[in-house]
Amino acid sequence: MKLCSFEVEGKESYGIVDGDRVIDLLPLSSYYNAALPLRVLDGIAKGEEFLQQISSLLQRAKSEGELSGHTLSIEEINWLPPMPEVKRNIICVGKNYREHAIEMGSSDDIPEHIMIFTKATNTVAGHGHTVPLHEDVTSQLDYEGELAVVIGKRGIKISPDDAMDHVFGYTIVNDITARDLQKKHGQFFIGKSLDFSCPIGPYIVTKSEVADPHQLTITTSVNGEVRQSSSTGLMIFRIPDIISTLSQGMTLEPGDIIATGTPAGVGKGFTPPRYLKAGDRIDIEVEGLGNLTNQLQ
Ligand code: MG
Repeated sequence: MKLCSFEVEGKESYGIVDGDRVIDLLPLSSYYNAALPLRVLDGIAKGEEFLQQISSLLQRAKSEGELSGHTLSIEEINWLPPMPEVKRNIICVGKNYREHAIEMGSSDDIPEHIMIFTKATNTVAGHGHTVPLHEDVTSQLDYEGELAVVIGKRGIKISPDDAMDHVFGYTIVNDITARDLQKKHGQFFIGKSLDFSCPIGPYIVTKSEVADPHQLTITTSVNGEVRQSSSTGLMIFRIPDIISTLSQGMTLEPGDIIATGTPAGVGKGFTPPRYLKAGDRIDIEVEGLGNLTNQLQ
């Protein structure tokens, strides 16, 4: 299932993407008195029950010929982040691809332990949203295409063997970074948390539809020119280890988003560096997860 949130005619809703159409679930739920949660985040917290509720609603609507009346063209919607409200910071893994660690410094920069930082909740943006260039505070804004994991089940001290049971699905994140601020202030936080510097989406693909999250191609283009072309198979620390490490002393909650790191090819890695400019269009495609597109203001 491809679960998305959107706005249409000034109203927020969420739905299921089916090719170039979106089944608008909230009106459909009202029509059948199905009592779907009003927010994707609350649905995710219900886990499998939420997905079953959606499946039976879709089956019923289909058999009674009510589906087309609750279906929109994707052209009609204004995409929102798949979870428009995030409960806490986006958790990010740094330098999780060898060649990227090297382009950011040298082979000495390949981490021995998982490197974790976060992006504040003000960073969240949707597919198609315009991202500010923030030129009054940075001259080195950069892109980072990443596979992100959405947690579906609460957990503490999760073992690597159990970690995948805690995954709800996958999406794409653009970990937009002000390199100059990242460096100047010691901690990454300020350089990683400019407003709308974390486009997410376009949708969450539920985990049953992703056979192996460590075998997905990932491609980032700027104005149509491919800058990052890699595979999630090249991650240094894999998803079970990331979830297990994070959860040893910190409870993971449904709706937590973990960006798993970016491969080589960021703007900083070029000589001379190729930072973002006004009007640049960034497309990130992860196999099976769609294409996250944003333009710089
Ligand atoms: Mg990153």
